[in-house]
Amino acid sequence: MREAGLRAGKVLVVTDSNVAAHYRDRLDALFIKDGWDALVLVLPPGETTKSPKHLHAIYDAALAWNVDRRTPIVAFGGGVIGDLAGFAAATLLRGLPVVQVPTSLIAQVDSAIGGKTGINHEQGKNLIGSFHQPELVLVDTKLLYTLNRRQWTSGLAEAVKHALIDDEPFFAWIEKEWNRLLARDPEVIADMVYRAAKVKARVVSEDERELGQRALLNFGHTFGHALEHATGYGTLTHGEAVVLGMRAATFLSRRLHAKVDQVRIEAVLGTFPLPALPDGLTSGELTAAMRSDKKAQAGRLRFVLLRKIGLAYVEDDVMPSDLEAAWDHVLGPR
Ligand code: NAD
Repeated sequence: MREAGLRAGKVLVVTDSNVAAHYRDRLDALFIKDGWDALVLVLPPGETTKSPKHLHAIYDAALAWNVDRRTPIVAFGGGVIGDLAGFAAATLLRGLPVVQVPTSLIAQVDSAIGGKTGINHEQGKNLIGSFHQPELVLVDTKLLYTLNRRQWTSGLAEAVKHALIDDEPFFAWIEKEWNRLLARDPEVIADMVYRAAKVKARVVSEDERELGQRALLNFGHTFGHALEHATGYGTLTHGEAVVLGMRAATFLSRRLHAKVDQVRIEAVLGTFPLPALPDGLTSGELTAAMRSDKKAQAGRLRFVLLRKIGLAYVEDDVMPSDLEAAWDHVLGPR
């Protein structure tokens, strides 16, 4: 943090109780050893923490402690803490420096990079927020061993997504190391996180405000959001829904582009450990869920598809019969 130009002194650390249970003592010791005066705010875990209430808890703690414009906020946690503490930093005193220390795999390969911060509103996720780039993103892959299995596979989904949209050699490496990645083998984790984070950094540095290319990071998400919605939030994690969404988007891509190697992609995506989908879920229901999405209401449905592995683009001309077939592919025989 000193090397990144931050002034040593007060630092406000925001974390959640799961992360604190594992790492609080070591974190406190590190700051004390290096001469920082750290105030650690521990919030409840989970998506509901990305709320006005917890945002204000950060404001209250920071202001009561007399932070000034050079006091850094350290977001020490998964994507929830990163988004929330990042937004608090963006808005407190018109902007404090933020350091992202992502502790979940999703956060290390995705959410801590790119500067998107924010909270949820009753009307939808991430509706209030801003772009606020971190001074520093500090990734330590040793933190990832205390994640549970579903949190691990959800993060892997985002890493595979980055390979599919932008980096064929990375995808080939994932194919080769797939069993070790699923098993969280320490020998391959750092390489995977580095390569996935690099894709995210490259894409967002070319299109910080999502005017174009950054939208490609939504590969699998139009389908994934519909699945989360139709199965009731919580049945599937976001990453699990994205895995199925990427299978549907790959199917659709293959219908339009002969170069899409669906067999290779299925060999990875089809072997993700996923919970069973509810009985009776139909392609019609899922298509309806897709059309009810707020972003879709304004115009035609837009999909991020592949021309081939490593090359994604946005398509808004998809035939309803192809869409239905893509859902049927994911739902399987029922
Ligand atoms: P999360 O922060 O809720 O973390 C998932 C769970 O893992 C939580 O229960 C957390 O307490 C626990 N956890 C985190 N690190 C741990 C560790 N090292 N050991 C044990 N447990 C640990 O959510 P997430 O899955 O990290 O991220 C999802 C959030 O990220 C969503 O809110 C999403 O909107 C956001 N997101 C933001 C961006 C962005 O660009 N800003 C991108 C993708 C996702």
